[in-house]
Amino acid sequence: MRTVTHRLAPGVTAPASTRQSDIFDPNSGTVQAKVDLGSAAVLDAAVDAALAAQPAWAATNPQRRARVMFKFKELVEANIDELAALLSSEHGKVHADAKGDVQRGLEVIEFCCGIPHAVKGEYTHGAGPGIDVYSMRLPIGIGAGITPFNFPAMIPMWMFGPAIATGNAFILKPSERDPSVPVRLAELMSEAGLPDGILQVVHGDKEMVDAILDHPAIAGVSFVGSSDVAHYLYQRGVAAGKRVQAMGGAKNHGIVMPDADLDQVVKDLAGAAFGSAGERCMALPVVVPVGDETADRLRAKLIPAIEQLRLGVSSDPDADYGPVVTAAHKAKVEGWIQTCIDEGGELVVDGRGFTLQGHENGFFVGPTLFDHVTTDMQSYKEEIFGPVLQIVRAKDFEEAVSLPSKHQYGNGVAIFTRNGHAAREFAARVNVGMVGINVPIPVPVAYHTFGGWKRSAFGDTNQHGMEGVKFWTKIKTVTARWPDGAVDGGNAFVIPTMG
Ligand code: NAD
Repeated sequence: MRTVTHRLAPGVTAPASTRQSDIFDPNSGTVQAKVDLGSAAVLDAAVDAALAAQPAWAATNPQRRARVMFKFKELVEANIDELAALLSSEHGKVHADAKGDVQRGLEVIEFCCGIPHAVKGEYTHGAGPGIDVYSMRLPIGIGAGITPFNFPAMIPMWMFGPAIATGNAFILKPSERDPSVPVRLAELMSEAGLPDGILQVVHGDKEMVDAILDHPAIAGVSFVGSSDVAHYLYQRGVAAGKRVQAMGGAKNHGIVMPDADLDQVVKDLAGAAFGSAGERCMALPVVVPVGDETADRLRAKLIPAIEQLRLGVSSDPDADYGPVVTAAHKAKVEGWIQTCIDEGGELVVDGRGFTLQGHENGFFVGPTLFDHVTTDMQSYKEEIFGPVLQIVRAKDFEEAVSLPSKHQYGNGVAIFTRNGHAAREFAARVNVGMVGINVPIPVPVAYHTFGGWKRSAFGDTNQHGMEGVKFWTKIKTVTARWPDGAVDGGNAFVIPTMG
């Protein structure tokens, strides 16, 4: 059986891993490969190689570093079908969606092609008599990224693109559930001309993550995953003196105003709630129609749309979505459906017990719809991360704004309306980090930044765009004086001012 192992710099040896984890084929439910779970000793070997390689990379001029990004972009584009097929085979998302996963990551690489412009410092000529002040944006040294299973191409690229383009060495610890695409991306970076030791991939679980958090030579850690892990990792990393950005879970709401185009809303919701089997942090698993009349009309249109959704294996070009990632995750999602029933939610469409002919052991969950879900229910408060849509009825606009605002998560939110004033008010007032106006999945473009609020993100810097550049660099500010040779009679014991 195939084993996915660490990708360290050539010539670096690390102790053989004594533990492994299964990589499933979610379509068939079988184990298709194993992945090595590394220890602190593997990480030490990777860090040593990174330390040896990073100074020369940092000293490489930014235009040359950008050229590696340009070449990498070409290579990923040339291999996008192969990457998407590999991604689908471990994750279960359908091929077109897997290509989107690669493409959204590639857009961050495109941003990184302009890195010389982004790392330019600032300069003040004549800040004082004969004094100039300038700043340099320098790499932090060695960065690490710990990524979730649900975007195995995009999220690693969110992190290693800006980290490497700004002159750091980077160690990636991808999800152990679908680790093959991250390794393949690292191979393509080497092929693009990246020097050895600048991008390495280590595999593992909590043991490896803890080793990363505790390693004194790692200066910054970027994490994306579930909120409890994000919070734990943020605290431990910061306590060890690192900068940490840790993105967590989500429960995004879609507000539907009475004047919205409901046919378009139903189309948008079907994709945003059930696409990728709901395994997206920017999915829309809660819909909030404003007023019972809107709710009844929306529900009547949603039911047939949901019943028409087509589940299939990830290679089926006609499938709307595929299986969830593991049997354990399928059981968890079905458990939440039962909880919502027990709490009094009205089960309108039940996706449990779905089987696909010829793939009876695949991890499929049918689309599920609940109505009359209320804010006291645990199944509303927590993230389900599956193809389950909950209708929470709001009596008016104020209640609709307050629901996502008061929720523990604050990743994304959307409002569907034809009323520009209502949309503008909503966008300004809602207590959530990313807002869509008639856009169901408002993932910002690569040159803006990605990040939620409240328990959806710990730390104060977003992913990619200029926030990513800031996270992976530190500023040095130089105050320089070139005297003309005359002795300055000023009082050296007083704090210098420019006055
Ligand atoms: P996860 O938290 O289980 O795993 C994420 C990473 O953390 C993996 O690399 C995993 O190996 C590691 N990990 C898991 N448990 C750990 C522990 N106890 N200690 C240390 N490390 C641990 O998340 P997942 O199931 O892979 O991904 C889904 C989650 O990620 C969802 O909650 C989703 O909302 C979230 N997510 C958030 C964003 C965002 O940008 N906010 C984006 C994508 C996914």
